[in-house]
Amino acid sequence: MAPALTRSVPRVLFVTPEIHPLNKTGGLGDVSSALPAALRELDVDVRILIPGYPPVLAGLDNKRKIAEFPAQPPFPSSALLSACSSVSVPIFVIDCPALYQRSGGPYADTAGRAWPDNALRFGLLSRIAAILGSDISPLAWHPQVIHANDWQSGLAPAYLRFHQGERAASLMAIHNLAFQGVFPPATVTELALPAESFDLNGMEYYGNMSFLKAGLYYADHLATVSPTYAREIQTAPLGFGMEGLLARRHADITGIVNGIATDEWDPATDPALARNYTVGSLADKAVNKMAAQRLLGLTVDPHIPLFGVVGRFTHQKGYDLLPQIATQLTEIPAQLMILGSGDSALEQELTDIAKNHSGKIAVRIGFDEKLAHLIEAGADSFLMPSRFEPCGLNQMYSQRYGTPPLAHATGGLVDTIVDCTPASLMDGSATGFLFLDMTADGFLSAIRRVAVAYHDKPVWRALMQNGMARDYSWGPGAAAYRKIYSSLLPDSP
Ligand code: ADP
Repeated sequence: MAPALTRSVPRVLFVTPEIHPLNKTGGLGDVSSALPAALRELDVDVRILIPGYPPVLAGLDNKRKIAEFPAQPPFPSSALLSACSSVSVPIFVIDCPALYQRSGGPYADTAGRAWPDNALRFGLLSRIAAILGSDISPLAWHPQVIHANDWQSGLAPAYLRFHQGERAASLMAIHNLAFQGVFPPATVTELALPAESFDLNGMEYYGNMSFLKAGLYYADHLATVSPTYAREIQTAPLGFGMEGLLARRHADITGIVNGIATDEWDPATDPALARNYTVGSLADKAVNKMAAQRLLGLTVDPHIPLFGVVGRFTHQKGYDLLPQIATQLTEIPAQLMILGSGDSALEQELTDIAKNHSGKIAVRIGFDEKLAHLIEAGADSFLMPSRFEPCGLNQMYSQRYGTPPLAHATGGLVDTIVDCTPASLMDGSATGFLFLDMTADGFLSAIRRVAVAYHDKPVWRALMQNGMARDYSWGPGAAAYRKIYSSLLPDSP
């Protein structure tokens, strides 16, 4: 391997299954473009590794083949391309048409069924990451740290650990512990991992093998996306069965709150808005409220509190509470606009409540980046009743857009929202609302509390201004990751 560079310029391979704007399904896509860009600002030589799904290949310029990996059953042959991204972070793309060239999402087909060969698809991503991080890499550039993200790259630390020879250190970042990459036990040997790694002290997980557990067990260091979530996952139920392992490794876990792409999410310049605004021109925010009401078929009313929701319809996000409180919400009176997709029964239920409360509740099923921006700007308050939330991004977008969020007090939501109380209003820290009672009644009374505050103009103005003044840029988070990389470099104490 190349000699270690000085500790001041770590070389890092950031391994991810999705990246905004090429193929984002959630927050990891946002993080995968914004964090590497922020790390380069801090003089980290970070490069990205991602599978070559059709939108990734189509969306990148100057692609050049830089290595070939011959077939090694069960892995088909693949090539490594280098490319340039819009965020000026070098990208390595795994070109393997047999595994990645298909229509549908990165993890599932168009009907939402997980690809049956996901173990192989993400086994290859992990394996190539490990090859690039070891002394058998075909590249001249040798990363010192492999930064794996979520289960899809969870086998990279395992492949590295079992590599006989020089290898990079590994960092396993958990963006959501609920997704674990669980496959039958035979997958271990099928993917050319040693049979003995199928063990409680290894990647065995309740009789199956888990990509994520492999990462959590074999990585040199672990990170997750907020300090509160870092604590929560060390206990049941939010440890999802990994709490024992995580509690044993507590000294190796760092919680780092995600940042946001402050250039893309800026109400002063956002091209998706009906009118741009700043903290000094908050009256212009109202133009966006009117535009959203018009666009979505809500009654245009500048005075009624308008709540916004954007997200994946899964049990995690708690949107199943919305149909239970829809009528009472409209009677406050208040309006609600929802954008999202996922669980088909919930899609139907939410569509039905919109039909039954026409002009008061609007629902759009689908993924619509532009509408997501308009909702952040047009809503008065943003709802996040998540049962658990590793970090969450929308609550930070909404604060930046002068749209105080209301969220369940869990995970990163606790670390990024300051609940509105007389004390927090007094010291100028209040930015939104947190509620503890994760039931329909608890959520509804929290919504009522927000509506009361909304009509108290000085209070509401203070909440908007406090939120807009907060710094949610990636600077502090990137510096914290850099510190971890430095601690993992060979010459660190
Ligand atoms: P998660 O990663 O659990 O989905 P986050 O809050 O961390 O949740 O990030 C979600 C990201 O995906 C945000 O940028 C959000 O705006 C975006 N998003 C989710 N669903 C949609 C949708 N239907 N349309 C547009 N953007 C969406």
